[in-house]
Amino acid sequence: AQEWQLGSRPEGRPEPADFRLVERELPAPDEGEVLVRNSFLSVDPYMRVLMGSAQPGVPVYPLNRPMTGGAVGMVVASRAPGLSPGDLVLSDLGWRTAAVAPARRFTRLERLPGVPDSAFLGALGMTGLSAYVGLTRIAQLEPGDRVFISGAAGAVGSLAGQMARLLGAKEVIGSAGSEEKVAYLTTELGFSVAFNYKAGDVRAQLAQAAPEGIEVYLDNVGGDHLEAAIDALTLDGRAALCGAISGYHLSEPPPGPRNMIELVKKRLTLRGFEVGDHMDLHPRFARQMGSWLAEGQITFRETVEHGITGAVDAFLGLLDGRNTGKAVVQL
Ligand code: NDP
Repeated sequence: AQEWQLGSRPEGRPEPADFRLVERELPAPDEGEVLVRNSFLSVDPYMRVLMGSAQPGVPVYPLNRPMTGGAVGMVVASRAPGLSPGDLVLSDLGWRTAAVAPARRFTRLERLPGVPDSAFLGALGMTGLSAYVGLTRIAQLEPGDRVFISGAAGAVGSLAGQMARLLGAKEVIGSAGSEEKVAYLTTELGFSVAFNYKAGDVRAQLAQAAPEGIEVYLDNVGGDHLEAAIDALTLDGRAALCGAISGYHLSEPPPGPRNMIELVKKRLTLRGFEVGDHMDLHPRFARQMGSWLAEGQITFRETVEHGITGAVDAFLGLLDGRNTGKAVVQL
């Protein structure tokens, strides 16, 4: 089997030289273990955080060890009750072609008709759940709300925009990093308005897109996007802080929003979340998402790299904004 290891901690944007592809002979599964061949690997922004930087102190991927991440695969051999060859499974044993591990590291998946297996890393996986948790539990979206979503053409954002509309939002505004992505948001995903954050000041563009303000903000980006959203939020507005990708390469934390006093004046709620703390919502989410997909109410794109050698490119592409929708690696 082949696996990617982190060879050095990146300063700023990671480089291909920070990663090493290593060949490893896998043992036969022991009692209670299974051998799984991965078919799709997930690459996600949080992995940049886990790589750390030269500064010590953050919990990080160990050096020269296999990296981890979401993966969908097929059981090839099993010495564990409950898992049989041919079963489709989800694990966090990504960044590798195959893995031998105790059965508890794998979750058996039920395929949905017409939905590719890779969707268990995206629309039907943690990505979709993040969008759902952020909008419903964290931001407490209500019908009639005006919602702003940053990183809107990405994996979480593209699902969140469609969900917000289905959950009754009056207007859904999105920002993304290219004209093509902006067009995708409004023509295919049903966003009411969208803008290219690279084409001008975020605050000014948001004010123009939502002249009467917003009730809800789902933050994937942080930095100037968060500051702009704080300005645009109306009385009792709510922001769900999902991520802050604009700062993941910085070795010093970025300065905070300069307009925090607006939280006082407008009684705003800003609340962060980790999707893993909200697994109790997963069954409800899976049912709801399953029917939205079956009815064609939610669509998604994926940006697919092929082969284990493509994993680093897929990951760096995600950090550079080359993906639309979920970035995955197909083995
Ligand atoms: P995406 O598919 O959205 O990919 C990342 C995108 O971020 C890129 O496509 C790029 O799009 C954009 N981006 C990169 N750099 C910048 C920048 N400096 N400013 C603005 N946008 C930038 O990834 P995900 O959907 O998986 O993740 C989105 C966010 O959600 C991340 O912050 C992630 O950490 C967070 N997250 C949090 C979870 C949680 O539990 N809290 C769970 C899952 C994700 P563009 O071309 O538009 O720049």
